[in-house]
Amino acid sequence: MSSISARWQAVLARITQACLVATRPVDAVSLLAVSKTFPPEAVREAFLAGQRAFGENYVQEGVAKIAALADLREHIIWHFIGPLQSNKTREVATHFDWVHAIDRLKIAQRLAEQRPAHLPPLQVCIQVNISGEASKSGVSPAEAPALACAIAQLPQLQLRGLMAIPEPVDAPVDSPQARAPFAAMSQIFAQCNSALQEQGIPTTFDTLSMGMSADMESAIYEGATIVRVGTAIFGNRPPL
Ligand SMILES: *Cc1c(COP(=O)(O)O)cnc(C)c1O
Repeated sequence: MSSISARWQAVLARITQACLVATRPVDAVSLLAVSKTFPPEAVREAFLAGQRAFGENYVQEGVAKIAALADLREHIIWHFIGPLQSNKTREVATHFDWVHAIDRLKIAQRLAEQRPAHLPPLQVCIQVNISGEASKSGVSPAEAPALACAIAQLPQLQLRGLMAIPEPVDAPVDSPQARAPFAAMSQIFAQCNSALQEQGIPTTFDTLSMGMSADMESAIYEGATIVRVGTAIFGNRPPL
């Protein structure tokens, strides 16, 4: 068994175990394999092990990898999880299935305009700056419901939920400190859902994209539905 395959299975076991601890169904959480900086062959290895959803952070690298794996295109769901600039929206709207880190209406509007008509709607999440870090992108928690209502009404997009990258916490995964930012995300998720329902805006708002290699358990305990995992599957990334 390849090391990617072995590590991938170990990550699935961690997800299953965390679901059991949280008394959540084991299929409530899906694994997004973050393949940034790793070559197409690494994605292919994970694919052969059984992984189907992959996440990329950089537009150029992601589009090149999707092209290199064109034979698998109809079997892979490609998620763009990095920060997105206006001048790169067309490439993302054309090549990806999901976008996780939307933090302003203008980017969503551009994606809606540029999503090719022959493709299914682009699945999108709003990034929330849950730790209030100046260096991190994302809307403030207070801004999330209004942005959700605006984005959910755009054509060619389907608003699916929220995404966050909390500041790393040096505490056990089941400690209140480690769980707090993810618990806060669950509350914001509920507020967005209420706002959408009050305004009668139809959408499938079902996704909380949170938790990475180091903190996926904390995120799962607090309701994550997608964990984005890179290092624990593919190994350490080369420094950029
Ligand atoms: C790199 C990255 C991940 C994966 O991080 P790991 O610690 O390697 O699991 C998840 N989400 C985002 C947005 C990332 O940029």
